[in-house]
Amino acid sequence: MTRRIVLTGTPGTGKTTVSELVAERTGLDVVHLNDEIRDEKLYTERDDERDSLVADVEAITEWLGEWDGMVESHLSHLLDADVAVVLRCHPEELEERLRERGESEAKARENAESEALDVVLSEAVDRFGTEAVYEIDTTDRTPEAVADDVVAAVEGEMEPRAGTVNFIDYL
Ligand code: ADP
Repeated sequence: MTRRIVLTGTPGTGKTTVSELVAERTGLDVVHLNDEIRDEKLYTERDDERDSLVADVEAITEWLGEWDGMVESHLSHLLDADVAVVLRCHPEELEERLRERGESEAKARENAESEALDVVLSEAVDRFGTEAVYEIDTTDRTPEAVADDVVAAVEGEMEPRAGTVNFIDYL
């Protein structure tokens, strides 16, 4: 079993939902990093215009200390880890999920565009290399099916993969 796993992806790809299913199935400890950034004040400033916090990666790393298990956040791939699992979702479905969750139109659109441009995947591949990245498409799939894939990645039963989806048609 891999020791330190980061579960990343554009907001709305299903990280929180899937991480809880993976924790139930594997017993892995899961850190929901966005909650901790807010609660433990692990940020350098507030970005009021974008209604978000600017994460302080140094403070997060210090707060985590020696960790194992899974850290879940759209920023988790900025941390050191053994593998990065990147959840993907077609931008049209992503926008719908975000709207249903009550996000603003602007935020839903911004995240959908970022997903179409592979921003998180590219960052993860840049940091981890293709040998340590597991890209998993969640489009038209249940959280349970996605969790199966994440467990397979974590348990070494899946080959690393990146660039398996192409959402550029959205733009
Ligand atoms: P994230 O943590 O990546 O922002 P969430 O886990 O909060 O994403 O999921 C965003 C929304 O999408 C939630 O309403 C959730 O129920 C829904 N969702 C998550 N995973 C899936 C999936 N595989 N299929 C359909 N809807 C999903």
